[in-house]
Amino acid sequence: MSDTLLGVYSRAPLVVDRGEGVWLYDVDGNRWLDCVMGIATDGLGHAHPKLVAALEAQANKLWHVSNIFRIPGQEALAQRLIDSTFADVVFFGNSGSEAIEGALKTARRYHHVNGSPERIDVIGFAGSFHGRTYAAVNASGNASYLDGFGPRLPGYVQLTLDDEAGIAEAIARPTTAAVIVEPVQGEGGARALTGEWLKRVRDLCTQHGVLLIYDEVQSGMGRTGKLFAHQWFEGVEPDIMAIAKALGGGFPIGAFLATKEAAKGMVVGTHGSTFGGNPLAMAVGIAAFDEIAKEETLAHARAVSAELVQQLNALKDIHGDMIVDVRGKGLLIGLKLVPNNREFMALARDHGILVAGGGENCVRLLPSLLLSGAEAAEVVTRLDAAFADARTRLARAA
Ligand SMILES: *Cc1c(COP(=O)(O)O)cnc(C)c1O
Repeated sequence: MSDTLLGVYSRAPLVVDRGEGVWLYDVDGNRWLDCVMGIATDGLGHAHPKLVAALEAQANKLWHVSNIFRIPGQEALAQRLIDSTFADVVFFGNSGSEAIEGALKTARRYHHVNGSPERIDVIGFAGSFHGRTYAAVNASGNASYLDGFGPRLPGYVQLTLDDEAGIAEAIARPTTAAVIVEPVQGEGGARALTGEWLKRVRDLCTQHGVLLIYDEVQSGMGRTGKLFAHQWFEGVEPDIMAIAKALGGGFPIGAFLATKEAAKGMVVGTHGSTFGGNPLAMAVGIAAFDEIAKEETLAHARAVSAELVQQLNALKDIHGDMIVDVRGKGLLIGLKLVPNNREFMALARDHGILVAGGGENCVRLLPSLLLSGAEAAEVVTRLDAAFADARTRLARAA
């Protein structure tokens, strides 16, 4: 363990060296079947040849220029995103938090220029995760991320997803600016919202002139088997959407998308980013987008998800004393466990498979969208062994 790095992470004792497809290797040449994938970020697995080629080609050409110049790659990636979504405009940053930050600013500015500057409240939900900036932790309202960082920012309201009456009442308030929600909660433990839930909130927002912001940082870019998770449903499109993670296939890129109307307050001087959308990032982003957005890739993700989830449910039948629930959507899969999830993650590692943690004592499987059927079977074999081992080694969760 290192004393030179800020101690904010609980790191696994795994010293990474290289990756290849679904496999992650340590410096000693040991390999793990990687179902963390940089937390749903390496959507195409490690070292995808097309991403490597795009990065290498652009590295020899131009890395970075200021946004005071036109950057053709930005216009090209923006056009692709616009053509495949509700959006009219795109802003590029470098992370999910930055995308969230921009989305929140856009919502408040909209009401400011729309003659309702009193509309500043943003409604967020228990179990959500929107990133680590001051605005993002206030939007999610998770107490453990807020503790000790001074006063809460004004204008953030927290509700529970099942509080139908509370949600309707809050959206109708004259000080409400926006609702922010993950169509599939990621860190919260792979909790997928229904089309009915999204439609109801969409309609209430429209009725009351409130903007709907989707955080698809984790659920977007093919993760659920559609390009964006909300696209599973009709009539639930947002006004603003934050994306990141798999957008760059491992290269740091974030973005927020908006309709022309919702973005109308964001004029020259209201926002910016030094690194956001630089030529190197855009070259990789375009290559990643073109692979992920292909119907072939999305259809594969849906098919392999169906196979994997079926086998995980069979595993749940075998290890009913260990697995309480198999949930999520597409390849954003949560296993709600009886044994402590952190302890199980370490145990899974001993059996050659890496899984991510999540809320409600879940572990999350976030494999490459290109996971093959054989690799999916290998995921199940390794988990099976880990659960058998857990039965003998782990104490029940307190
Ligand atoms: C990861 C994540 C974020 C934050 O993204 P960073 O790139 O870590 O800033 C925000 N929202 C969701 C849903 C995420 O999963």
